Amino acid sequence: MSRSAPVAPTCASVLLALALTACTGGAQGTPGASGLRDPYFPKAGNGGYDVTHYDLDLGYAPDTHRLTGTATVTARATQDLSAFDLDLQGLDVGKVTVDGEAARWNRAGRELTVRPDGDLKEGETFRVTVHYSGIPETITYPDGSEEGWVRTADGALALGEPTGSMAWFPGNHHPSDKASYDIAVTVPEGLEAVSNGELTGERTSGERTTFTWHTGEPMASYVATLAIGDYDIRRSTTPDGLPVYVAVDPTRADASREVLAGIPEIQAWAEDAFGPYPFSSTGAIVDRDSDAGYALETQNRPFFPGVPDTALLVHELAHQWYGNSVTPKTWRDMWLNEGFATYAEWLWAEDHGGDSAEETFDALYDHGEDTYEDLWSFPPAEPPGADHISDSPVYQRGAMVLHKIRQTVGDDTFYAILQGWAAAHRHGNADTADFTAYVEETAPGEDFGGVWEEWLYGEGKPGRP
Ligand SMILES: [Zn+2]
Repeated sequence: MSRSAPVAPTCASVLLALALTACTGGAQGTPGASGLRDPYFPKAGNGGYDVTHYDLDLGYAPDTHRLTGTATVTARATQDLSAFDLDLQGLDVGKVTVDGEAARWNRAGRELTVRPDGDLKEGETFRVTVHYSGIPETITYPDGSEEGWVRTADGALALGEPTGSMAWFPGNHHPSDKASYDIAVTVPEGLEAVSNGELTGERTSGERTTFTWHTGEPMASYVATLAIGDYDIRRSTTPDGLPVYVAVDPTRADASREVLAGIPEIQAWAEDAFGPYPFSSTGAIVDRDSDAGYALETQNRPFFPGVPDTALLVHELAHQWYGNSVTPKTWRDMWLNEGFATYAEWLWAEDHGGDSAEETFDALYDHGEDTYEDLWSFPPAEPPGADHISDSPVYQRGAMVLHKIRQTVGDDTFYAILQGWAAAHRHGNADTADFTAYVEETAPGEDFGGVWEEWLYGEGKPGRP
């Protein structure tokens, strides 16, 4: 651990501190762990508590790039706690309170350690409030992709996969701790501020406008988003009554109109294939091509740099089921996101006059390395490191695992697996072992040994059976 707080004070040391009564009551609180030991991001997230709600009150000035925030995090202690960490990258912390009382705190790297006035008891719900401000950081990876707080031509964009959300609010930044959110964002009048969930208010005073957004369903922080700038806003509802909120950079408005008008049709098709939509609204955010290097399945309304094609729209909307509702327990389980979303593209093509999934599978098997050089470089369930969780084996070969399951069980059982998996872990977390066990339970007479050994966990290109 990298903090300066004393760990598990002995009764003797507490006695020395004249805290006599603390020693008569049994167990002492100890500090929560500074990370959740994710196999790829061991310091992401924190131990000792479970967040139930984030209340973020943010202000942003695009001209100075300054972010001002108050984050109130409601959490339940999962152990007796003398201290706990929040993840926060950059920014300046002004004041921290726990249940309204000033708390001591210190920072080391991305860990903000908070020491409440008295211990928090296991099972206790508490509220920690952090006042902070500063110029939020953009995180740049070796491949040039950016996340965290990304400045755009006309504002800013918050993108958080895998760890960028700690650049704009303190929290338990690991996919295993999902929570509901209320996000209020104040920006100069004339700009829009788009986030997840549903817009519950828009109020202008003193030449500043505050937008308030509510996300009632659990959300992993990596799919929380904020898009500040000039946007054309289009609000509609699907034939089923689901609100659709689309925000498009004005320079992309005309070019994106037709593809985005397909959202209700994609939603209906996806519900047919994957089961009931897990959230209370849908939509999209379309920025300029130069604003980011990739699309992201930000909850309720995926983000696109430039006008998406239908396949990409299908991919990111499919993530609402696979990734955002059924969320990986760790970053090792990324193929459960990307393999499914890629397979959704194959299914869409199959159902709309394109190649069948079988044809897509065969073409990948025969010539996949022409397009995806690294296709056979590692098994989808075991990326060789954090730098590889977004590589082709996780996407294309992950989708091939699903197709091997479909070949094994036939269409009826396969769709039962797609829908049952989404239902069994709706709004929860799951890992690869949960998935293989689920498939085996759903198709008890079948032998999946070869699929798991060769396609999911095997090194190199599997042999054709
Ligand atoms: Zn994806």
